[in-house]
Amino acid sequence: MKKIVIATKNKGKIREMKDAFNGFNVEVAALDEFGELKEAVEDGETFEENAKIKAAHYQKLTDTAVIADDSGLEVEILDNAPGVYSARFAGGHESDAANNEKLIEEIKKRNATESPARYRCVLAFADVSGDMLLTDGACEGEIRLTPKGSGGFGYDPYFYIGEKSMAELTLEEKDKISHRGVALRKMVKLLEARGIIEAL
Ligand code: IMP
Repeated sequence: MKKIVIATKNKGKIREMKDAFNGFNVEVAALDEFGELKEAVEDGETFEENAKIKAAHYQKLTDTAVIADDSGLEVEILDNAPGVYSARFAGGHESDAANNEKLIEEIKKRNATESPARYRCVLAFADVSGDMLLTDGACEGEIRLTPKGSGGFGYDPYFYIGEKSMAELTLEEKDKISHRGVALRKMVKLLEARGIIEAL
């Protein structure tokens, strides 16, 4: 049985990963099983760099295969900001509310009422052998100034796909189309193709 540690403390992401590996000979473990670990320094300039930094860091600390993710929002009218700075757009480790306020303020400064946008996610798998595999996913939509819905997290109330905001989707609906869902399904396929995991 292959053991894979998910390098996140986010319960939602752990659930998504566990679901994705259902039916495979994989034991999915959470990072908190390993006690207090030194946090990775996410100082990369791209999603790829940060995902690789996190995967390599926690692979070494846990001596187990690890999957790490890095994700964020790119807004066209803001030259693809906030990108890798999505979690700290308002400065520091700010709340979702502060980041959303900053997002709307920046769009208004450009006299716009909406902008094409996409969520992006990169997953990095670091094996005990030192091998690293990457997959990515994107979800195209539009940022609007008026929030809708109470589900999801982060920028979801302002991120629209058609007339629905991401925060109006159920977890299952979001998993099907989300950047993370896409990257995750690609990762499961890649690991199976490489013979690292097998269907039961
Ligand atoms: P991280 O990769 O979990 O650190 O996410 C980075 C940041 O991107 C989050 O703090 C959110 O602001 C944003 N983000 C990533 N994925 C999503 C999503 O599915 N919905 C809303 N915001 C997201």
